[in-house]
Amino acid sequence: MLIDYRSDTVTRPTAGMKAAMDAAPVGDDVFGEDPSVNALEARSAAMFGMEAGLFCPSGTMTNQIAIRVHTRPGDEVICDWTAHIYQYEGGGIAANSGASVRLLQGDRGLVTAQMVREAINPDDVHKPRTALISLENTSNRGGGSCYNLEDIAAIRQVADDNGLPLHLDGARLFNALIAKSQSPSEMGAQFHTISVCLSKGLGAPVGSVLLGPKDFIHKARRVRKLFGGGMRQAGSIAAAASYALDHHIERLAEDHHHASLLGETLEQLPWVSKVLPVETNILIFEVAAPHTASGIVAALKEKGILAYAIAPMQVRLVTHLDISEAMVNQTISIFKAL
Ligand SMILES: *Cc1c(COP(=O)(O)O)cnc(C)c1O
Repeated sequence: MLIDYRSDTVTRPTAGMKAAMDAAPVGDDVFGEDPSVNALEARSAAMFGMEAGLFCPSGTMTNQIAIRVHTRPGDEVICDWTAHIYQYEGGGIAANSGASVRLLQGDRGLVTAQMVREAINPDDVHKPRTALISLENTSNRGGGSCYNLEDIAAIRQVADDNGLPLHLDGARLFNALIAKSQSPSEMGAQFHTISVCLSKGLGAPVGSVLLGPKDFIHKARRVRKLFGGGMRQAGSIAAAASYALDHHIERLAEDHHHASLLGETLEQLPWVSKVLPVETNILIFEVAAPHTASGIVAALKEKGILAYAIAPMQVRLVTHLDISEAMVNQTISIFKAL
């Protein structure tokens, strides 16, 4: 049997989740008539102290809708150079919104208030108009790193001083909240809009929610339709997401523990030159030359372990709902014997 650490998106719905999907009342969500979708949107907004929510097929869509609503063509979006919105959304900022980006050199994907302040353009006709600041928490390419609330609050202050909206790509926001013992409402208070994925560590098969003020979500609903993301009887998948919010948040701590166990093992091994700090469920390590990331990934695959080469010398492992303690122990034995 393969042990799949490529991503926390590979999880399958549990029996309890399937039962919840089966039992969900549904309606036409483009008409606003799906009770399960409406319930998910309302409860996820309430959790974060936001006015409204919008259920979408993917986190790429929730981010891209947010960028589209916050910007006009020619505007600039400030984010870290590793940001998913820039690196992994197919050039969507340019294609969907006609906006450009100002990339920051953060530490493992995390940026500071000073970096953001220095990147905001003055009101000068030569310059693109700075329109949006976007953070990522946890940072995917940063190896699951996460922010302290004070650091986010300082960035929010810069946003307020300049009249700019602050968006959060919270694809793995619950991992951050569990790792840092932060509450959804204190996190929600820092941002104008938040995207949260339900199909990553939370284990739902599909979906993300976009959260924000009522008038923002009203505009976002129109853009969702424009992008082809208006779904009909989406209640079945919304029910899976609600089930995940009920049952799969606290258990993220297990995934974090598993990632740290794997990290401790890798630090001892001769074919590993460096392990990035493990804060949540993502583990990134550098392979020691003359090995390469693709060579290590191929050797692990032969032993039944799937990992992902994210750079010529970097490998990523992600722990999740379908990785058990027994699988982690087996992986540790295989690592040591490789
Ligand atoms: C996975 C991910 C997304 C959204 O991905 P989808 O596959 O489109 O749902 C957005 N941001 C980050 C940081 C991610 O890891």
